[in-house]
Amino acid sequence: VSESAPKLPSKILDLMDGFRASKALFVASKLKIFDNLKDKGPLKAVDIANEIGASVCGTERLLDACAALGLLEKTPQGYSNTDSANAYLTSDGEYSLHGYIIHSNDHLWPLFTNLESAVKEGSRQNHRAFGKKADDLFKDYYHSQEVKQRFMAAMHSIAHLTARDVATAFDLSRFKSACDLGGCTGALAHELVQIYPNLKVTVFDLPEVIANTSYFQPSGQHMAPVTFASGDFFKDNLPEADLYILSRVLHDWPDEKIHVLLSRISAVCKPGSALLVAEIVLDEKKTYPPRAVLQSLSMTEGKQRSGSEYKQLLEKYGFTNTQIKITGNLLDAVLCFKKSLSP
Ligand code: SAM
Repeated sequence: VSESAPKLPSKILDLMDGFRASKALFVASKLKIFDNLKDKGPLKAVDIANEIGASVCGTERLLDACAALGLLEKTPQGYSNTDSANAYLTSDGEYSLHGYIIHSNDHLWPLFTNLESAVKEGSRQNHRAFGKKADDLFKDYYHSQEVKQRFMAAMHSIAHLTARDVATAFDLSRFKSACDLGGCTGALAHELVQIYPNLKVTVFDLPEVIANTSYFQPSGQHMAPVTFASGDFFKDNLPEADLYILSRVLHDWPDEKIHVLLSRISAVCKPGSALLVAEIVLDEKKTYPPRAVLQSLSMTEGKQRSGSEYKQLLEKYGFTNTQIKITGNLLDAVLCFKKSLSP
């Protein structure tokens, strides 16, 4: 019998508790605890409970959990936001993740609750999580104004946080016009026009999305304009551009749909024009970064790819000189050029 105490498997213990920590963050965000503490001195649990209309004992436990997780500071005077809560967890912070956190709570959490069935059946669990099976991922998000707004806010928060690194991953100054296919709220487009003032950028997305973009536009008076165009990238004419962009689009779709989309882009791309893909690029073993590997568990019909898989895929559709930039941010970038016609 071993005399020494067993070494604690801290990684496993952290994972066992991970779901509680995630849910505490989600609920604190949903109840707007970080918004209530913004720009305020320390507040007592009872005052926060009154503000958010929740029980004092429940609020106190949640506040203590947030303090334990390093999201709040707790002193004898009460609770206050940490710097990172002010920057990322308040709903109006410049790089707020609030939208994505609410999407995680309301949409991803119910899906992941059914992970066991998802693995057994190898399919998304919309029917179990939400009582319906949608034929298209996006129809599911856009059936109600509330869910659509929530999804767009989630996309916007990540796109805004990653836009600079995606836009500067390569020198794009040679391009005169760009079209961000599935560009949603225009977060990346706005960053591109800031960095490349001579670039004209069109955001192309479904009509339901384009109708809802005004809420997400930056308010600065001197913002260079971005054009919005609505349509279905599987069916409608694509706007002309010498740089096409697909950010977080390819991983959503099965191979047949990707075939349609990349064939259509390749057909309108002139030789020398380019395609910029923003995705999380997996390592060749396809186990890193874990964020991408865990996203796959949502069981959409699409998949995450490694650098060599993106290169191979893009070459199949006439794109060459593929360059990959691992940004260190939440999205990486892949740039490739339409091949010249054979001599
Ligand atoms: N590019 C944005 C980003 O990186 O944050 C949004 C990514 S979101 C996962 C996919 C986007 O593709 C959504 O805005 C969605 O509306 C759009 N989309 C889906 N199907 C589409 C279609 N058939 N035609 C045009 N856009 C579509």
